[in-house]
Amino acid sequence: MRIGKTYAPAAAPIFLHDILCGLIGLLKGDAAVTQFGNEIKRYFGVKHCYLISSGKAALTVILRAMHQINPQRNEVIIPAYTCYSVPAAIKKAGLKVKLCDVDPNNLDFNYEQLSELFDKNQNKSPITNLSQSIQSQLLAILPTHLFGCPADINKQRKTIKDQSIFVVEDAAQAMGLDFGDMKLGSIGDVGFFSLGRGKAISTIEGGVIITDRDDLAEKIEHVIEGIERYSLNQIIKLFFYGMFITVFQHPFLFWLPKGLPFLKIGETIYETDFPIRKMSAFQAGISRNWQKRLKQNMLVREQNVKDYISKLGRISGIMIPFLSDKIKLPLIRLPIRVKDLSWRGRILKESDSKGLGMMPSYPEAVCNIPEIQNEFDSSQFSGAIKLSRELVTLPTHFFIGKKERERVLSVLSKMI
Ligand SMILES: *Cc1c(COP(=O)(O)O)cnc(C)c1O
Repeated sequence: MRIGKTYAPAAAPIFLHDILCGLIGLLKGDAAVTQFGNEIKRYFGVKHCYLISSGKAALTVILRAMHQINPQRNEVIIPAYTCYSVPAAIKKAGLKVKLCDVDPNNLDFNYEQLSELFDKNQNKSPITNLSQSIQSQLLAILPTHLFGCPADINKQRKTIKDQSIFVVEDAAQAMGLDFGDMKLGSIGDVGFFSLGRGKAISTIEGGVIITDRDDLAEKIEHVIEGIERYSLNQIIKLFFYGMFITVFQHPFLFWLPKGLPFLKIGETIYETDFPIRKMSAFQAGISRNWQKRLKQNMLVREQNVKDYISKLGRISGIMIPFLSDKIKLPLIRLPIRVKDLSWRGRILKESDSKGLGMMPSYPEAVCNIPEIQNEFDSSQFSGAIKLSRELVTLPTHFFIGKKERERVLSVLSKMI
């Protein structure tokens, strides 16, 4: 175990002051939650906002609502390289995961495979006089803005053609970012954000759903009516966990939780047994000043990403897997591809020994997650598997400055 200054791969800081705001939120009760929801609606220019306990809970609620609208459809298309919580939420909603490979050059879908999936789906039934919507099993597709790199939603809409397939924007990592003049999360039929520990801003844990569609909003509301609230006990636990984060998120102390195996920090686990609760007034209280905090976090991240990118060009053997005209984005981590596997291994080991927060992101493509791999033919998803082997993410968060960037860049140039 390393003892000494250690950086997390991603972090949205929570300070003692924010926890105190959480306690004030508790006193305000439901009014604090309503206020946060109204602020989100104004910021994103959307009609409806729902606040719950996590990003995966948000996705589960969305899918259940959609399944009520289209009960004969049960398949959800997701990128074959994404957060393990995504297939877990689909399972929890009682639906079927359908994978589409990703393009390792830009982290978006492999559009050739996406259009094949769709064509196959249309022609599945031999009974030709059935209407298309009855033949189709596809309920929804999840464009995913991984690390904040925007997926091209308009291109996806054109590719899938069938407008009755819902577009659910997985903007879990992309709160505050935009694509052209559109805010990510507000482009699809519905979008969701995560307010977890390593995301754009954090309320310890939390999820946000936004939509402009009244029909969906009505069903989402209905699903949410049936979910539980945080009990007092659970809020007290959240309070202590929040205090723990405010203390141990700091690089001077982060080595301690990172070194404790039972905390499972940085581990990616596939878990369908997660709670779905309404956001508590404590979490809503923590969100106070979120727009200012989001802006501050984004400024730091943008500075870090810009600087990394301007210097990474000089290091051969490294590829930056997204479109070059989007490089000023304040990403929550900067993904790079290191094509030589032994280099990558050495880089990660060196970073670990120096506590620099360079990480491999999700360890496996979705088709190789042990709990569900028997459902997929992994030979179809070579792009996703490539990413799982080649990706390294560089930390860009609040606690990273010039000195840390230089150390990260020096590890990269020395190891390659
Ligand atoms: C974090 C994340 C989620 C799930 O959010 P939680 O709040 O952790 O449940 C979903 N999708 C992506 C891409 C994520 O990064």
